[in-house]
Amino acid sequence: MIRLSPTAVLKYETCPYQYLLEEVLRIRPAHRAANLVFGTVLHRTVEDWLRGELTGAAPDPVAVFDRDWAAARNAGGVEYAATQSPESLTATGRALITGFATAWPTFQRLLAVGTDGTPLLELKLEVQLGPRLVYVGRSDLLTFNRDGELECLDLKTPSTPTDLGWLANADQLTGYQLLLDAHVERLELPPVERLGLLELVKRKVPTRTGKGPEVLAPIAVPRRSATEMTDYAQKVRWVAEDIERGRFPKRGLMAHNTPCELCAVRGLCRSGDLEGLIVPPKTALASVA
Ligand code: SF4
Repeated sequence: MIRLSPTAVLKYETCPYQYLLEEVLRIRPAHRAANLVFGTVLHRTVEDWLRGELTGAAPDPVAVFDRDWAAARNAGGVEYAATQSPESLTATGRALITGFATAWPTFQRLLAVGTDGTPLLELKLEVQLGPRLVYVGRSDLLTFNRDGELECLDLKTPSTPTDLGWLANADQLTGYQLLLDAHVERLELPPVERLGLLELVKRKVPTRTGKGPEVLAPIAVPRRSATEMTDYAQKVRWVAEDIERGRFPKRGLMAHNTPCELCAVRGLCRSGDLEGLIVPPKTALASVA
């Protein structure tokens, strides 16, 4: 049985060989990028705050962020980019979570709740797309906008704001619609009408002037058409078929858009170098190095 998530499909499409190393052979970098750790902590803080806010008992968002960010850093293995430090990210995180708590009421969104009354945050869903293929994913936030439309919002912490035009073809959002459409009856929800992003832009807090961290109002586009959904489901099936058949070519693309510079397993791919990687004990490296 193959289980594919929206990000797994994107990873395969970006470079099948990287997918083989990371998702099939489970080879991992020993260190986690600070951006990823920071994003995960901020994500959790926003959700904790929203859960509390719904019941009228929102926690102090900065205290929640400080606690979780300190725990993540103390766990060790966090690798910072040259432009970052634990302190700079702490300041950015505090500014963003404070800004989010202030901005949320102005977004005029109502959290969608499940049949048990709990908010539909980090909702884990799956759908069978073939006899041996399960598509899985988590939708971050389900909200009703001011027109009463159900909206699926992906929470992001990018370094720069995302262009609205990108949303029209974002596979990740198409994937969420695929999952939600399969479950709306069970969840007792109307069909999702809009797909979009809620972005917390993680710029550094400026020492003097300049743009610092920024919480942007949600951006969203209308739901995908039936044809777009059929095409995407077909693509997921093709990816699953390629994986089953063991098709894992390297895909370095062109110099201007190569995925290699950000690839965590590039040393292994280029020269068999395992430094900085964790290899599961039973992995047959002879076939890949
Ligand atoms: S270095 Fe490039 S070609 Fe090699 S696995 Fe990574 S992304 Fe793929």
